[in-house]
Formats: sequence, C-alpha cells, structure tokens
Amino acid sequence: MSDINAIVTKLYDELHQIAEPAWKENKTAAYIAAYLKKLGFEVTEGVAGGTGVVGIMHGKEPGEVLGFRADIDALLFTIDGKTQCIHACGHDAHTSMVLALAKEVSERGFERGTLKLIFQPAEEIDTGSRAVIKDGIIDDVDWLFATHLRPIQELALNQCTPAMYHGSCYMVEAEILGRCSHAGRPHLGINTAEIAVQIVNSINAIREDASVQHSAKVTKILAMEPSLNNIPHHAEIAIDLRSQTNPIMKSLIAKVTDIIETTPKLFGGSAVVKTPEGVPAAEINPQASALAREAIVSVVGEENVVEKVVSPGADDFHYYINYKPSLKATYIGLGCGLTPGLHDPNMHFDKNALANGVKIYLYIVNKLLHIKG
Ligand SMILES: [Zn+2]
Ligand SMILES: [Zn+2]
Repeated sequence: MSDINAIVTKLYDELHQIAEPAWKENKTAAYIAAYLKKLGFEVTEGVAGGTGVVGIMHGKEPGEVLGFRADIDALLFTIDGKTQCIHACGHDAHTSMVLALAKEVSERGFERGTLKLIFQPAEEIDTGSRAVIKDGIIDDVDWLFATHLRPIQELALNQCTPAMYHGSCYMVEAEILGRCSHAGRPHLGINTAEIAVQIVNSINAIREDASVQHSAKVTKILAMEPSLNNIPHHAEIAIDLRSQTNPIMKSLIAKVTDIIETTPKLFGGSAVVKTPEGVPAAEINPQASALAREAIVSVVGEENVVEKVVSPGADDFHYYINYKPSLKATYIGLGCGLTPGLHDPNMHFDKNALANGVKIYLYIVNKLLHIKG
C-alpha cells in the first residue's frame, strides 16, 4: 500500500486552495476529472447541474454498484469587507478522501462489480443531491457511502461513527393579505400584524412527540405601512422547522401550513403559502451502517466507535435514500479534532485523520468488490 496519508494530504492541500461556492465549482470539477482520468476511470463531467463529476471503474466480474459521494462546494464569508470563499465545512477533505481511494483502488484493481464515485456540487444550498438524482446517477447504485468531518463536540480525534443522524430542516414562507385602513377606524381594515401574531401563538402551541427533538420557530415577521397610523394590509412570515425524524417533519409542515392558511380567514384575510423547501432527516440502512462499523473497527479499533451521532445539522445526502429507499446507504462521521466548529472561517482539524477515512472506504471496497493483492 502506498502512503495514503501523504496522498490524501496533498490532494486536500491542493483542493483547499481552489475553494469555490455552490454551482461555481468549475476549477474543483476540472481538478477531480483530470485526476480520475489519469487513474483510468471512465469520467463524466458537466453532470448534476453542470459542475458534478462521476468516475466509474469496473471489476472483472459483474456485481453490485458501490457508490461513494463527496460534496465539493465551499462557503462564502465576508472578512475585512472582502468576500472570500473558504472550505470551512471540510468538503475539500471529503473530496480528497474519495480521490485517494480512487488512486489506491485503481493501482490494485478489484474482482467484481462497479465502483462509482459521485462528486456532488451545491450541498451547502441543499440543491446538489437533487440534481444528481435528476440525472439518474443514483438509479443503478446499490450501496452508497459518504463521510463528513465532525466537530470536536460530536467526535474526538480518531473517533468515528457509522451512522450520522442528521436532522430534517424545512422553511415555510408565506404572505398574509389583509386590508389597509385608518388606524382610528380599525374595523374597516384587516390587520395583518395582528394576524401574524395569532399565527405565531398557534404555531407555538403545536405539540409533537416530546421524545423526538423538533422545533418550529418564527424567524421573520414583516408587517407595516409607511404611515404608522395606518392598519397594515400585508405581512410576510417565515417559520423554520427542525425534526430528527421525517414523520414528525411531515406533521409539522402540515400543521404550520394549516395554521397559516386558516388563521387569516378568522379576520377576513387570506394567505399564500410557498411550497416548503428543505432537507429530509437521515434514514440509515442497517446493512450499510453494519458494514461501515466493521470498517471503522478495523481502522481505528472498537474503542473509537461511537454507535451513532445525532446532529442538529442537516445534509442533502439524505435525499438519496428518500428517493431510492432500497439504497443501502449510510453517512459516516469522522472525528478529526475539528475546532472551533464547522462553518467557522477559522475551522481547522488534524489532517492525519483523513487517512482513517480513506482506509475505512478501502475496507468497504474490499469487502464488496474484492480488491486484488
Ligand atoms: Zn456545511
Ligand atoms: Zn458540509
């Protein structure tokens, strides 16, 4: 085996220098495609909305399709008045681990099945995985794995989990329509500020299973007339929803939508609710997480396995299993001493941990596709 640590670190350092935001990952995609072509992968560029890349390699015998997904986008920050793009969520690390895996596997070859490496754009804005799905890239995949660096609050250096339970998050936005009038004659108007307050009070009284983390919070109310002695005729409202399970999220969306649509009618007004946007909660496949656990034990030892991590963060990876429930998919969490936290422009971690991720992937490839030698 070649020096995985040196390979993955070099890849990481190079990708870190060319951080690009969602849907603009052109240099990153070109870097990935060139690297995979050199290794002998069949490469498809310009997929999944334009900046996605897929690399495929076949074994000698037919068999299952094993997929690894890496997200490739970075985040924008304003620092000293200047906009900068920084890989503060570690997607450069995820990409470098899959590329290092590609190098190892291509040098040694494997007996059966197909290895499919999926480099997904725009994870940060929750649209990339749906673009991958739209292009049919998941349709033939049997197994799918992804890894995300975890902050030190979730996993210590070298600890790993075979099952990241990301939560679901959705945003419900609506316009409330009323009628303007003189504030001295409020009975002639329909006050959208008062309607919005009623909506918020009703949303605060929603009850779901208290043993499952969830929340519904108002994050925006805009209701006013330029003249403050007028009754506001229009309001905008936004509700942020979180849930650790998809059934509770479904119920929250239905109740919140119902409250927003019904409440204005009590006042003679109306509401227009936008289609809620968001990401589903993790659905972990037990076969995939059992295999990931076995891989983690072989690389970092039983003492470093954390059975599951429940994270308030979300990831659009979970659209894949939502789209194809037969997919044997799990999301691995990699402890790497990451501080102060994800999405902090000063985020840093111990790069030596990246080799653990590559070795975990190699174990999985060997188990399912039988690496030679
Ligand atoms: Zn992120
Ligand atoms: Zn991320």
